[in-house]
Amino acid sequence: MAKIGIPVGAHLIGGEWISTGDKTTTSINPARPGEPVGDHPVGDASTASDAVSAAVDAQRGWRDVGYKRRAEILETAAALFDERADELAIIATLEEGKMLAETRGEALLSAETCRYQAAIIKMPTEAVYPSAKPGETIRTLRAPLGVVGVVTPWNFPILIPVWKLAPALAAGNSVVWKTASNTPLVSVAIAKVFHDAGVPPGVLNLILGPGSMGGAMIEDARVDGVTFTGSVPVGFGIRDAVTARNGRVQLELGGHNPALVFDDADLDLAVPLIIGGAMGSTGQKCTATRRVIAVGSIYDELVERMASSVTDLKIGDGLDPNVSIGPIVAPRARAEVAEGLAKAISQGAEVVATADVPETSECFFAPTLLAGTTELDIWSEEVFGPISTVVHVENEDEAFALANDTDFGLSASVFTTDMWKVDRAINTLEAGIIKVNAPTTGTELHVPFGGEKSSSGHAPREQGDTAHDFFTRTRSVYINPGTPNPY
Ligand code: NAP
Ligand code: MG
Repeated sequence: MAKIGIPVGAHLIGGEWISTGDKTTTSINPARPGEPVGDHPVGDASTASDAVSAAVDAQRGWRDVGYKRRAEILETAAALFDERADELAIIATLEEGKMLAETRGEALLSAETCRYQAAIIKMPTEAVYPSAKPGETIRTLRAPLGVVGVVTPWNFPILIPVWKLAPALAAGNSVVWKTASNTPLVSVAIAKVFHDAGVPPGVLNLILGPGSMGGAMIEDARVDGVTFTGSVPVGFGIRDAVTARNGRVQLELGGHNPALVFDDADLDLAVPLIIGGAMGSTGQKCTATRRVIAVGSIYDELVERMASSVTDLKIGDGLDPNVSIGPIVAPRARAEVAEGLAKAISQGAEVVATADVPETSECFFAPTLLAGTTELDIWSEEVFGPISTVVHVENEDEAFALANDTDFGLSASVFTTDMWKVDRAINTLEAGIIKVNAPTTGTELHVPFGGEKSSSGHAPREQGDTAHDFFTRTRSVYINPGTPNPY
């Protein structure tokens, strides 16, 4: 790690890097398990409590620094994300496994996110109301939420943290960030960007450790709100704990995203987008295309073309520019995906196509296209890997009903050249993100992001100009002159 200028794994608490502790562990490269990425300390409930104390102490000072200085610091952070994009990408690829081009993209989008959030806090967000009393001004005031807990997954190890941290910091909050155990060292490198950009001690605290340490942090009554991205069971547990003490909570959870392909679709366009959406990032995206619904006569040709596209995928080390799909993040995650596939096959799914995988790491997994029915568990449960299942339906009504027949509602795609079907899709599909002739994956960071049903909570959307809403409180203020009217 030292070679690329990043400190060894360490918590960041109250502006101090803390690399020692009772327990340490090693971050592993899923593509080359014999080559550890680096060591780091493992925190516990007392680490979480120390970080919350530091955040409490720092919050008012950060609020009072004012929006202009906070924006300047975020702009400096943006410049550092650009400057360090290669270093950040290498660490993220070593830890998580995804393609270097993808992790580099995350670093550059992090720069853009910081720039965008720095600009957003200069926009008008307050309102002035008429008053019944002469001389009185009634206005709203946006106050920071206070101390914010940020809990992030490993699958977008750079961008997801930054799309939470940037608006939280911009709005004047202090933060305790509990990052994913699979990607600790890139998290340290991200915290270092903000630290080097001038975020004062205690305003951003990073703690490394297991879910139970995150549990202790979110249960701390001094934490005013928690923003979480991850799985449904963990997210719902966090929601229950935080709302029980009337804290604010934002959830981005799983997905089970459909692509509907109508018989008027352009398959030259659709097939690469569907396979990219299903298998890209080794299928480890909340927005991945898990279900393909082929409508009418297009089924046979669609399946044949998707199969050949899957067979062509090249699996290997994310550092290799000739590879298109990396490993699954860790052996345990890989075992869960393999179990999901075995169950689908035992329930009657037909394996239509797979790709070859190298044997150099147990984390490699063959992207798999299944043909099946809606009876399969994999048709309704999120299996977080490169598996997609195609089913055939007769008509449009069936297609839309099936697309919505899920507990999730994150993203959905429709492939058609008929504008009436497009109109029906955007008014019918129960998903927070609807794509037309585009993959279920991939969004722009200045646009609100989130899902419906079990894919999200009910807080304001992340990203875009709505990101600010979660991290601020609106107060209504009545200001009177304080002396009798002299006129
Ligand atoms: P996860 O197991 O829910 O973990 C997410 C984070 O929560 C990690 O930092 C984890 O720490 C932490 N955590 C675990 N138990 C906790 C507890 N009791 N209290 C507080 N924090 C706790 O999810 P994952 O496996 O990392 O990520 C995959 C899931 O995320 C998938 O379901 C995917 O769909 C979803 N996801 C959703 C979105 C979206 O925007 N909707 C985006 C990306 C991913 P450890 O790492 O130490 O366990
Ligand atoms: Mg997990």
